[in-house]
Amino acid sequence: MAKSLIVVGAGVFGVSSALAWRRRYPDASVTLIDPKPLNDKNPEGNWIVPTSEDTGKIIRTAYVSSSYTELAKEAIGMWEVEEPYLKYWRKSGWVVPEKIEAGSLNKGTDMSRERFFELFPNALLEDDEILKEDKSPGWVEASAALAATIQTAIREGVNYVPGEAAGLLWNVGTCIGVKLGDGTEFRADFVVLAMGCWTKDFLQQSGVTSHGVNCEVAGITVLGIQLNEREYEQYKDMPMIAIPEKGEILPPTRDGVIKTNNAISFHAPDLSSRKIPLILPDNHPYFEENIAMLAKYFPGLKHAPIAFRRYCFDAFTPKQDFIISALPGYEGLHVATGGSFHGWKFLPNIGNYVADMLEGKLAADWVDKWAIGAKLSAEFIHPDIIPKRSAEITTQE
Ligand SMILES: Cc1cc2nc3c(=O)[nH]c(=O)nc-3n(C[C@H](O)[C@H](O)[C@H](O)COP(=O)(O)OP(=O)(O)OC[C@H]3O[C@@H](n4cnc5c(N)ncnc54)[C@H](O)[C@@H]3O)c2cc1C
Repeated sequence: MAKSLIVVGAGVFGVSSALAWRRRYPDASVTLIDPKPLNDKNPEGNWIVPTSEDTGKIIRTAYVSSSYTELAKEAIGMWEVEEPYLKYWRKSGWVVPEKIEAGSLNKGTDMSRERFFELFPNALLEDDEILKEDKSPGWVEASAALAATIQTAIREGVNYVPGEAAGLLWNVGTCIGVKLGDGTEFRADFVVLAMGCWTKDFLQQSGVTSHGVNCEVAGITVLGIQLNEREYEQYKDMPMIAIPEKGEILPPTRDGVIKTNNAISFHAPDLSSRKIPLILPDNHPYFEENIAMLAKYFPGLKHAPIAFRRYCFDAFTPKQDFIISALPGYEGLHVATGGSFHGWKFLPNIGNYVADMLEGKLAADWVDKWAIGAKLSAEFIHPDIIPKRSAEITTQE
């Protein structure tokens, strides 16, 4: 009989894992647990919004590591043709303006200044900025794509449970299930914790030694700017702008919101509960950096209305490899996390690798990179975005 599975966390890692296991074993009982109620596309308010929920995420194959480039190519192949993904995929390409050719990522071919100014006529480009262009990357409407994938999983038989995991169930040293805050218990052969930046704290709270789970919580400030109709028409088909070591500007969503990520990331406090409201001062200097980045390429938007400000947290590993592994010493218990600011694009395919891990079939190259206790990779996978500073975030019960 097919082994049953509980996945805790319905971000990209968890949803992809639940769907992949159900597709591999259509008779298997698969339960996906997350506090977010269905139909709540982008929960805001006093809850920390999970990393996977966003207006847009970038999908690209440019990686220092050829293994991740291949993994991203496989994902893009699915974004381009498969339901439910293709509806949310926008092949915009990107433009990379940079002062010196930093890093070793392949950012594209040379772009003329004339062409750049056709796209961004008011940009305050400096004389020594080099321009590159690549038409292959794109972006996706992230929250909408994730919600559609959850609906697909439910249609295909995954049992979605809105609830908060409060602990693990044990039979001697074997993990046999998950207990919710309201006392409800779920049992399965395999438990996968895909709780993003909450994974490590949850393990600790559950009495599981988690020092092999080598990740920290890191954050990025994200700012959305509301365009008016004229601005939307002007920029709706723009390519993304990716500024090395500074951040990215994504094209407007259908409701006219341009998003900026501030890639100067920061060390964040551990998040022992997703219910702790964070005080997000509107005038925090990191948000000012978002605005300055936008204003350089769109001076007319410097004082445009702000649609949203948020901190976005991820589980960040030392070399940005994911952690997709059994927990040594705890039979039945596994983790799938460590997105490290680049995990979103793998929504369509990462679950297949989690399923391979559960079955002990994961290719040796990935076991070497993703297993708990694996030697650290020689290279950084996503070096531009390593946290170099700390944020003072005030928490309030
Ligand atoms: C600003 C920013 C921009 C990014 N841009 C990109 C990009 O352009 N392209 C890209 O590929 N990647 C990008 N990333 C990275 C990507 O977003 C993450 O790697 C990915 O979303 C992580 O997904 P996850 O499933 O591990 O975590 P999460 O999305 O955090 O999901 C974890 C889930 O666990 C749930 N959970 C927590 N506690 C409990 C509990 N007790 N019980 C039940 N459920 C629980 C949460 O509700 C949440 O839904 C970006 C990250 C950030 C921060």
